[in-house]
Amino acid sequence: MSKSKIALVTGGSRGLGRDMAMNLAQKGTDVILTYHSNQRAAEEVVVEIEKIGQKAKAFKLDTSNIKLFDDFFKEISRYLNTEYGNSNFDFLVNNAGTGLYKSIIETTEDDFDAMLNIHFKGVYFLTQKLLPLLNDEGRIVNISSGLTRFSFPSSSAYASMKGAVEVFTRYLAKELGQRKITANIVAPGAIATDFGDGSNRDNKEKRQFIANATALGRVGEAEDVGGVVTFLCSPDAGWVNGQRIEVSGGMLV
Ligand code: NDP
Repeated sequence: MSKSKIALVTGGSRGLGRDMAMNLAQKGTDVILTYHSNQRAAEEVVVEIEKIGQKAKAFKLDTSNIKLFDDFFKEISRYLNTEYGNSNFDFLVNNAGTGLYKSIIETTEDDFDAMLNIHFKGVYFLTQKLLPLLNDEGRIVNISSGLTRFSFPSSSAYASMKGAVEVFTRYLAKELGQRKITANIVAPGAIATDFGDGSNRDNKEKRQFIANATALGRVGEAEDVGGVVTFLCSPDAGWVNGQRIEVSGGMLV
């Protein structure tokens, strides 16, 4: 039976979540990852993690739909019991998310609710649902955004929900301290993934703008972020709690 710690990474099939899952595995952690619709990409991550020598399993979950969380809880409890002999895991990384580029004037109630559900309500209630399975001394890492510190037009609904998740994270730290569980925020700057319209990767003008606004002079890559999440899950970060770590290469400092 595996003695590795176990991480659950939402949205681990692509982009930042994929790199977090891979990085955690490279440092000796087994990984449960979720995906929304891209099963093939998720299964590829599972294969890559198994090549490293860690266990991995992918589950489909729409993290914006809290009605699915009861079944997800049962599914992963069953998996953990079968594979590990108990239903506990160690690190919860709430990463899954989608973007929205619309001005305040253009944002509809449906747009707003979509951002609310995936970036705040889903994170809040998935965490609540999974807390009984999270080991004491476990770790929670919630993924926010540089956009809670600095503002660009057309990200108000998205960034507001990330701001809410940052407040939630501090409350998690406060309430879970008695179980020695830490909760921290990783706030990436602009990263070249499929996120939003993929423009951080594909739009030359936007990339130049980001590079100019970043002290280290380039757009971020997924590989810039995964190691920071792994650090927060490591023994070395045991005294880091209720903190927001921005991982942006020094954007707009
Ligand atoms: P990607 O678009 O590359 O990946 C998104 C991931 O989330 C995929 O694994 C996708 O699954 C999953 N996902 C999408 N919708 C849902 C849903 N409804 N339910 C469950 N899972 C879903 O995005 P990034 O990796 O760039 O973003 C990851 C996180 O980082 C997000 O929270 C984002 O807000 C945040 N972030 C991103 C930044 C950036 O510039 N890229 C900057 C700051 C923060 P599937 O593959 O099945 O579609």
